[in-house]
Amino acid sequence: MLHLIEQTLASEPPQRTAGYHAYFHWRWLGAGIIEFMPRKLATSQVVLSAGIHGNETAPVELLDALVHDLFQATEPLSVRLLLIVGNPAALRAGIRYEHTDLNRLFALPAKTPYRKVPEYARAQELESRVQTFFEQAPQLPRYHLDLHTAIRGSRHVRFGLLPWQSGPYDAGFVERLAHAGLDALVLHDQPGHTFSAWSNQQCHACSCTLELGKALPFGKNDLREFSAIRQMMTSLLTGRTPLSPPPEHLPSCYRVTQALTKLSGKFQLHLSDSVLNFTAFPAGTLVAEDGDTRYEVVSPEEFILFPNPRVAVGQRAGLLLQPVTWADIPRSDMIQTG
Ligand code: ZN
Repeated sequence: MLHLIEQTLASEPPQRTAGYHAYFHWRWLGAGIIEFMPRKLATSQVVLSAGIHGNETAPVELLDALVHDLFQATEPLSVRLLLIVGNPAALRAGIRYEHTDLNRLFALPAKTPYRKVPEYARAQELESRVQTFFEQAPQLPRYHLDLHTAIRGSRHVRFGLLPWQSGPYDAGFVERLAHAGLDALVLHDQPGHTFSAWSNQQCHACSCTLELGKALPFGKNDLREFSAIRQMMTSLLTGRTPLSPPPEHLPSCYRVTQALTKLSGKFQLHLSDSVLNFTAFPAGTLVAEDGDTRYEVVSPEEFILFPNPRVAVGQRAGLLLQPVTWADIPRSDMIQTG
C-alpha cells in the first residue's frame, strides 16, 4: 500500500518505490510523482495533479483517498495513470509557494527570468514527466485534471477552468465535467502558463483546472463535499462513460474577457479583500489601475475572478468574465490529437 501524503511529505524517498496489485503495478518516479499501469489494456491516459499550491490540501487528500480506492478497488483500473503532488516543499511548510507561484511557470521560454527560482526546476521536472508519460502511449486519448482550492470565498463554490484552445473542446470530456458537481465552468481566452494550459497546448490533452472550495490546512477538510468530483474521477479511471442523461443542473458558464495584469509596483486593485469570486460589477466600474492603464468593467457587467494584488509584477492579478451559455462552449466528438 502506498501512503501518498505521508511519503510525499517525508524528506527521504520511500523505501519501497514499486509494487504489484491485482489490477495494476505502480512506480514512484520522484517526489510526489507516481505512475500506475493497468494490467488490462489501457483505454486512455490520465494525469491527476494536486498540491501545485502548498496551502491547498483538500485536493491532495482527495488524491490520497483515490490511491486508497485504487488499492481497495473492486473494479480494475483501465487507464494509464500519473498522480502528481506538485509542490511538496510548500506543502510541508503549509504555504502557497516558497519563492514564486509554481502555477505561472509552465510553458515559459528557455530564457525566462524565472529560471533561477526553485519552483522553475519543479515545473520543468513536471513538464518532462508528463510529456514522457503521454508519449509512451501516443495512440491513447490524454486527460489532465489539476486540482486546486481557492484563496477567497466564492459565489460558485466548485468550478472548472478550461484552458484556451484553438479548436473545439472534446465533447466527452466536457460532459464528464458536467457530472462532477461543478457550479461553474470558465473558458480562458488566451494561452497561459498554468499546468493545465501547458498540458493542453503542449501535449494536446483534454485539460481542466478544478477549484474545489476554500483552502484549509491538512485534516480540516470535509471530503464529503468532494463526492461528485471523486465519483467523476473514479469513473474516468475505470473507463466508465459519463452517466447520462446530463445532470439536472448544468454549471453556469463564463468566458474570460479581461486579464488584470500587474504591470508595475503602482498596480492598485479597487476591490475589498472580502469580495467573493464571481461577484458582478456594472459597466464603468474601475476595478484596478496601474499608472495610465485602467481596468474598467465593460457593458453590460463583468464578474471578478481571483483578484489578488499581491502577485509579482508581470503576473495576473485577476480576471474579468462575462456569462455565456452551456451551448456556447465549442464542443466536438473528435478528440484533439493535434
Ligand atoms: Zn491553487
